[in-house]
Amino acid sequence: MAKLWITRPMTAAVTARAQAEFDVDLRQDTGVLSRAEMLRALRDYDVVMPTLGDGFSAEIFAEAGPSRCRLLANFGVGFNHIDVAAAQAQGVAVSNTPGAVTDATADVALTLILMSARRASEGERLVRSGNWPGWHPTQMLGQHVSGKRLGVLGFGRIGQAIARRCHHGFGMEVFYVARSDKDAGFVATRMPDVVSLAREVDVLVVAVPGGGETRHLVDAEVLAAMRPEAHLVNIARGEVVQQQALISALQDGRIAGAGLDVYEFEPEVPQALRDLDNVTLLPHLGTATEEVRSAMGHMALDNVAAFLAGKPLPNSV
Ligand code: NAP
Repeated sequence: MAKLWITRPMTAAVTARAQAEFDVDLRQDTGVLSRAEMLRALRDYDVVMPTLGDGFSAEIFAEAGPSRCRLLANFGVGFNHIDVAAAQAQGVAVSNTPGAVTDATADVALTLILMSARRASEGERLVRSGNWPGWHPTQMLGQHVSGKRLGVLGFGRIGQAIARRCHHGFGMEVFYVARSDKDAGFVATRMPDVVSLAREVDVLVVAVPGGGETRHLVDAEVLAAMRPEAHLVNIARGEVVQQQALISALQDGRIAGAGLDVYEFEPEVPQALRDLDNVTLLPHLGTATEEVRSAMGHMALDNVAAFLAGKPLPNSV
């Protein structure tokens, strides 16, 4: 029987299904795979379910040599930690879990938009400090969100779900950058480049995949183009935003604030960022609900099942 390795503890429902349907080893560690574990994954298992941070680089595939593993059924839609070309060159297919993550991640983007614009983290810290002097008319004034202009960098499943919420829920005007025109079902204006998008909007949300092509797409030039009252939100991948440039922009008050779910060198979050009041910091919560993590696990297992049955992968990348 084919051997499956699930590299992180899963929800009870996903674990039960994996044990019922497959010959599975369940890794109990919640941390990323070590180099030795990745080599073992490729050499000792037919199918592996890796996830965020498991760096299956070209180097790892080369070092592993001809591998027993034939499928990396990634748990998550983002697969920038896997060198897909190197995997395919070794005959290893890769699948992911698109769609299952969309609404939950869009919800966290909305959380960050509102928290950043309305200074919710700062206000919460004030109340917890015991130093809140009480309400007064000019205390902690933030930015009004309703009716403002939203910019979405990466107008795919998650980007459009964010825009839909902002357009229908908050009456926001939507602008976006993507590689091709999109029809979101409501008016959304495609901008020619990220700098023009940044210049146009009150809230700029990053929703492109990570990887070489999008690394530092939001750099010092883009941040300089943003308005001083604008907010940046990143729910995509940390590396898309040049973190040091963002820290400088926030320290100098060149933008009003930022809401981050992801970090360039995750899980490291620089002290300089943690010291700032005008940034909201979440621990990569995008898909963190029981239902969504179960749906992601089932989708990854659907790919495993199809693969082992010799059927086409439902979510090949
Ligand atoms: P998607 O449907 O593939 O959408 C990606 C969008 O980015 C598309 O509109 C695509 O445009 C655009 N894009 C890609 N490369 C680009 C480039 N170089 N320049 C400009 N636009 C570019 O993906 P999704 O399902 O929305 O997911 C997006 C990302 O969110 C994932 O890859 C993942 O990294 C991240 N994510 C984070 C969390 C979290 O927990 N925070 C959870 C889920 C996902 P075209 O269609 O024109 O190519």
